[in-house]
Amino acid sequence: MRAIRRFTVRPVLPEPLAPLGELVMNLRWTWDAPTQDLFAAVDAEKWEALGHDPIRLLSEVSPERLAELSADRSFLARLEETAADLREYLTGDRWYQTLGPQAPRQIAYFSPEFGISAALPQYSGGLGILAGDHLKTASDLGAPLIGVGLLYRYGYFRQSLTADGWQLEHYPIVDPQALPLTLLREPDGTPARVSVGLPGGRQLAARIWVAQVGRVPLLLLDSSVEENAPAERDVTDRLYGGGTEHRLLQEMLLGIGGVRALRTYCRITGAPQPEVFHTNEGHAGFLGLERIREYVEEGGLDFDAALEITRAGTIFTTHTPVPAGIDRFTRDLVAQHFGGDNASPGVPVERILALGAEDYEGGDPALFNMAVMGFRLAQRANAVSTLHGHVSRAMFAGLWPGFDQSELPITHVTNGVHAPTWVAREIAELEAKARGSADVGAWEAVDAIPDAALWETKRTLRARLVRFARQRLRESWLARGATEAELGWIDNALDPDVLTVGFARRVPSYKRLTLMLSDRERLKRLLLDPERPIQLVIAGKAHPADESGKKLIQEIVWFADDPEIRHRIVFLPDYDMDLAYQLVTGCDVWLNNPLRPYEACGTSGMKAALNGALNVSIRDGWWDEWFDGENGWAIPSADGIDDPWRRDQLEAAALYELLEEQVTRRFYDRDASGLPRRWLEMVRHTLRSLGPKVLASRMFAEYVEKLYTPAAASSRALNASFDGARELAAWKQRVREAWSGVRVDHVESSGPGDGAEVGGSATVRVYVSLGTLSPEDVDVQVLHGRVDDSDELQEPSTTSLKPAEAYEAGRYRYDGEVRFDRTGPVGYTVRILPSHPLLASPAELGLVAWPPPPHAMTNGDLR
Ligand SMILES: *Cc1c(COP(=O)(O)O)cnc(C)c1O
Repeated sequence: MRAIRRFTVRPVLPEPLAPLGELVMNLRWTWDAPTQDLFAAVDAEKWEALGHDPIRLLSEVSPERLAELSADRSFLARLEETAADLREYLTGDRWYQTLGPQAPRQIAYFSPEFGISAALPQYSGGLGILAGDHLKTASDLGAPLIGVGLLYRYGYFRQSLTADGWQLEHYPIVDPQALPLTLLREPDGTPARVSVGLPGGRQLAARIWVAQVGRVPLLLLDSSVEENAPAERDVTDRLYGGGTEHRLLQEMLLGIGGVRALRTYCRITGAPQPEVFHTNEGHAGFLGLERIREYVEEGGLDFDAALEITRAGTIFTTHTPVPAGIDRFTRDLVAQHFGGDNASPGVPVERILALGAEDYEGGDPALFNMAVMGFRLAQRANAVSTLHGHVSRAMFAGLWPGFDQSELPITHVTNGVHAPTWVAREIAELEAKARGSADVGAWEAVDAIPDAALWETKRTLRARLVRFARQRLRESWLARGATEAELGWIDNALDPDVLTVGFARRVPSYKRLTLMLSDRERLKRLLLDPERPIQLVIAGKAHPADESGKKLIQEIVWFADDPEIRHRIVFLPDYDMDLAYQLVTGCDVWLNNPLRPYEACGTSGMKAALNGALNVSIRDGWWDEWFDGENGWAIPSADGIDDPWRRDQLEAAALYELLEEQVTRRFYDRDASGLPRRWLEMVRHTLRSLGPKVLASRMFAEYVEKLYTPAAASSRALNASFDGARELAAWKQRVREAWSGVRVDHVESSGPGDGAEVGGSATVRVYVSLGTLSPEDVDVQVLHGRVDDSDELQEPSTTSLKPAEAYEAGRYRYDGEVRFDRTGPVGYTVRILPSHPLLASPAELGLVAWPPPPHAMTNGDLR
C-alpha cells in the first residue's frame, strides 16, 4: 500500500554530539576531508553503505552507537576541533576581504541546476557542476554571494539499463526533510513565501529552502506547497522534464520568484542586497524583468531608465554553441504569460517581446529567444573558453550589425573546477608533501614528487576505480536480470595495472559517444593487445526524450556485453558526481571527442588533469586553449570536412592511431625498476602547467575582475541617483532617433604620398554630419593597421580624432594623424560611434556610421 503522506524523522542527537548537527547541515563537508573522516568514524560501514550521505548516516546509526560516541573522549575532542574549524572557516577573512571597496558588496548567482554533491541531486551535467563549483569557490575565497535555484522534487533522473541495454529512467522522490536544507522562515516562525502571477488570476507560490554551502547560502524555490493548485505544485517536479509551457513556468519561478526570494532572504537575515546579478545561461533571464518592474513600480522610473539600471548590474554567461541548445519559446506563449490579465503595468508585454525577439537576419520572428534576451538585459556577457568566445561572437553577431566580431560585447572567462571537490586526497597529500608548505600556489614543487611515489599513488587510485566499477557493474547486471551465478566474471573485470581510459559525459550528439566504435575490430585489438592493452570505463545519461541518445548508449552497451571483451570495457549506469569523482581520480587517460567547436568548455578533463591523468582530446573548448604538446594529446580534427560520416571516420582513425602509436607505447615503456619514466614526466608536466589554470579559484577571480567589479561600478553610478539612469536612457533614445542623420561625408589625407616609410605619418581630416547630435555624443575614430589582399583591416588599432571645426550647422571637421609603425601593406578607415561614459562597449547600442565605399587605401596609394 502507498502512504498518503510522508515524513522523514530526524534523530535527536545526544547533547555532547550536538555539533555533528552543525557539521551535517553545512555542505562544506562535501569538500572537507577531515569532516568526512569524522562522519566515517561515527560508523564506517554505514558511511560507505549509505553512499557518504551524513544525514542518512545520522538517521540510521543506532542509539547505542550514539550513546557510545557521547562518552568517547577522543571522538568528542575531534568533533569539537572539526566544529571549531568550520566556525573559523565561516567567519575569518579570506581573499575577497583583501579587495578594495570597489568589489561588489553582494552578488546573486542564478542557475537552473546546482551540482554540489551526489547527496543533493539537483543537477544534470556540466552546467550544474559548474554552478556548484562556483558557489564552493566563492565560499573558499570569502566572496559575498547568494545562489538562487529551484528544488526539484525528483531531481533529474536515475539511470539504469534493461537486459537489452536500453536506458530506463527512475524518479525517486527527493525529500527536502532528508537533505541538508533549512526552510526559510519569517521572524514569527511561519514559512516564508513568494509567489508569481500567472494568467487567469492564478498564483504560483513557492517556499524557500536554504542550503548552506560553506559561507554561501543557496536559495532553492519549491512549488510543492498546499496553497498551489495541483498543476502549480508540479512546476518544480523535474529538472529539464515536461513540455514547453512547463519549462516557461519553471523559468518564471526561477527568474521572477528568485528575485523575490532574494529580497525576502535579505530582509529576514539582514544580508546586504545584491549589487550584481549573474545568470548562468539564459534560463533565469526573467530576473531582469522583475528587477525592471521593481524600479518602475517601486522606484518611480520609466521602463527605459529601469532597463538601463538593470542592465548595468547584470552579467549573462552563455554556455552553448549549439543553436538547438538555446532556450526558445513561441512569442504567443510568452505573450500569454506576460500579457492579458497577467500583464504588469510597469513592464508592457510588447517591451518584453522585443527583448527576446530574433529581429536580425536569419532569426525566426515567431520565436522568443532567452539568450537574446539575456544579452539585451545584461550590459556584460561572457562565453566560457577562448574558442567559445569566438564561436559565440559569430553566433550572435546579428545582434550588433556593422561591428567586427572582435568588438562585440561578449568576453570570455574559461571555466575551472573546484580542486577540493575533485582532487583525490592521495594526490593532494603528495603535492602538499612536495611543497613542504600549505602554499597551494607553488606548482613547480610537483617536480619534487618522486616517480615511484607518484606511480604508486596512481596505482592505488586505479585499483580503487576498478573495485568501484566492479561493484557498480554487478549492481547493473543484477538490475538487468542476471543472477549472481552468472556474474563470476565480474571479479576479474578490469585490471588495476592496465592503462585505464575514462570517458563520461551527457549524451547529446555532438559529444559523439560512439565515435570509438567506428572501427570495432581496431578497438577490440586495442583492448585485447597482449602487451599493451587499454581498458575503457564509460558512463553517461541521455535526456529522457532523446531516443537517438539512448540508441547510442545501447550500442556501447551491446559492444561492451561481448564476453570476449567485457573485462576490458564497461558501461557504468547512473553517471553522477560520485561516479565522476571515481573516474577522474582513477583513470590514466581522459578521452574527449566532441565535434569541434560544439564543446563550449568541458570541465571533466580538467578534473582528470588535476589528478594526474593525461587528456586525449579533440582541440575543443578548454583543450584548444591549454594543450601545449606535452600535457597530453590532441586528436586531429577534420574541421573542414562537411560530410559528417567521413569526418567521424577520419577523426576516429586519428584517435586509434594516437592510442596505438603514442599513448599505449609511452604508458607501457618501463625502465628497469618498472616505472614509465616518460609517462610520469608528462603527468608531472600536466600537474605543473595545468594545475594553476584549471582551478575555479582562477576562474572566480577573473569574474570578479572582468565582470563583477565593473558591473558593480556601473550599477552604483546609476543607483546613486536615478537621474543618471534617466539621463542615460534619454541619451540612448535621442542617439537612436538621430542616428540616421549621422554620416561620414568625406575623408582627406595628406602625407608621404607613395613613399610612406616606417615611422612616418599621414594627416587625416574627416568631415562628418552629426545631424542633431553634438561632438560630445560621438567618437570619431581612425582604424589603421595591416590589410589583407582584399583590403580588409586585420586587428586594426583605433585612434579617436578631435573635433577641429564646426563648418556648418551639424557638420564638423575632425583632425588626426595616422602613424605607420609597420612595413608592408597597411590601410585605414574611419567610423563614428555613439559615446557615453557609461557604455561598457563601443558596440553596445549596435550603432555605427562608416564612410561610403571605397574607403580602403594601401601604402603607396595615398589619396
Ligand atoms: C564534471 C561533470 C560534468 C561535466 O562534464 P563535461 O562533459 O566535461 O562538460 C558532467 N557531469 C558530471 C557528473 C560531472 O561531474
